[in-house]
Amino acid sequence: MNVFVAHLTAECNEHVSKDAEIGDFLLRYGDACIDALDVRDIFEDAGIGIVPSLFAALHPSGMIAREAFDYIASKILGELKGHLSEIDGIYLQFHGASGVRGLEAVSAEHYLVQRMRDIVGVHMPIAMVMDPHGNVTAELVGRLNIVRCYRESPHIDTVETERLVARKLVDLMQHRRPMHPVMRKLPIMVGGERSVSAMEPMRSINRMLDEAEQDPRVFSSSYHVGYIRHDDDKLGAAVVVVPNRPEDRAHCAEVAEEISAYAWEHRHEFTFTGNFGEPDESVRDAVAFEGKTAVITDSGDNCGAGGAGHNTVLLRELLAQDLRGKSVLVAGINDPAACAYLGAFGEGDAVSFDLGVGEDELSAPVHISGTLKVSGDALMGLGRIRRVGDSHIVSIGGTGIDVLVMDRNVQYGTMEQFKGAGVDFHDYDIVVVKMGYLDTYLIPETAYHTMALTNGPTIQRSENIPFKRIFRPMWPLDDMDGLVYIEQC
Ligand SMILES: [Zn+2]
Repeated sequence: MNVFVAHLTAECNEHVSKDAEIGDFLLRYGDACIDALDVRDIFEDAGIGIVPSLFAALHPSGMIAREAFDYIASKILGELKGHLSEIDGIYLQFHGASGVRGLEAVSAEHYLVQRMRDIVGVHMPIAMVMDPHGNVTAELVGRLNIVRCYRESPHIDTVETERLVARKLVDLMQHRRPMHPVMRKLPIMVGGERSVSAMEPMRSINRMLDEAEQDPRVFSSSYHVGYIRHDDDKLGAAVVVVPNRPEDRAHCAEVAEEISAYAWEHRHEFTFTGNFGEPDESVRDAVAFEGKTAVITDSGDNCGAGGAGHNTVLLRELLAQDLRGKSVLVAGINDPAACAYLGAFGEGDAVSFDLGVGEDELSAPVHISGTLKVSGDALMGLGRIRRVGDSHIVSIGGTGIDVLVMDRNVQYGTMEQFKGAGVDFHDYDIVVVKMGYLDTYLIPETAYHTMALTNGPTIQRSENIPFKRIFRPMWPLDDMDGLVYIEQC
């Protein structure tokens, strides 16, 4: 037997001005595609050969340009057609939050799964492992046999879940039976910062999902938070429960409804966790904190969720306030022109320039006079860390503020990245990063965290984002008494 495999990760924020081109994707073909999936041994140990197509991973970004998507689609669908006679099952690592400029379906996953199902027919097993921040619909789920997303946000269980779904697909390929997921789509639409798995109600929902999976009638179960950064009729949360055998369907429907009801009754608990406030409050709170290191996250310009890293709002707020002698690092601000300017200087040189691309009020330039402290590398990635650009840290004269200037939207979340820039995170009392909730690797390093509710492409107050195409009423944009499913299957 052979399994066809493909990977597409793209989280597409339409409020980011630049579309993603094919050169922005990490692309892997052939054996390198298989290795990037982290499931080779599971299929090979089961005696199942692997037919690779494409591994395409995009850092959270703007919408995907149509030409880039056309290339990805032609590669995946072309390989599928070319190997159709050899294939017994399909394994997809599809994120679920893609948006393609000019594609009627908007969602690349919806388009690709529809086309793949058309090509292979209605009976071939297709398994899809998703990010919980992907959108599912009855249309999508109805074309799949196994759907399961990660439990944890931040996503510490990505590889574990990818391997779990691979093992489940092996089971289905070796013991063929009709398998059709049950889905209940909920009129709840919240961002990742309101659905952290360490907090309620996600902690209880995940416990219910784990308990449900202990029952042999439940092949898998998951809660899909959904994605809210582009307008589409597919937005909203969902509970998906996959029956092990056809006769388990009624039980799985009960499980899906029980978990849906819990999420609905506890919807008011989908709120920000920890400390948060307006930009000025966040700076005041971090300055008032005695100890180090305090972290302020610039949540409206979250580079980990597609923010461009252009916004200078918090830098201006820091310059305006009395920092009581505290040392601050702003990591960082993406301004390619300023970065190129600084590249001409040596460490210790006096520099004078405008920082901020001036695309809008949020990225308004700030005049900086100071000293180039250190030049280094902008690094990204965990484990396989790689250089993605330049970084220059400038000490702003007479302020105690250092600002990291970069030439792309890097999110500073690991100690290795700060070292790559030439500084130590713990040398500062306060560090500002382009992030929403605090990332896994920053948590143990941080003594105090506050999330600044800044405006920008990743604004946290989703009530303020204008939507035209979504289901209404939708919580928290609207409030209503009873739970009415958007759709079900
Ligand atoms: Zn996610």
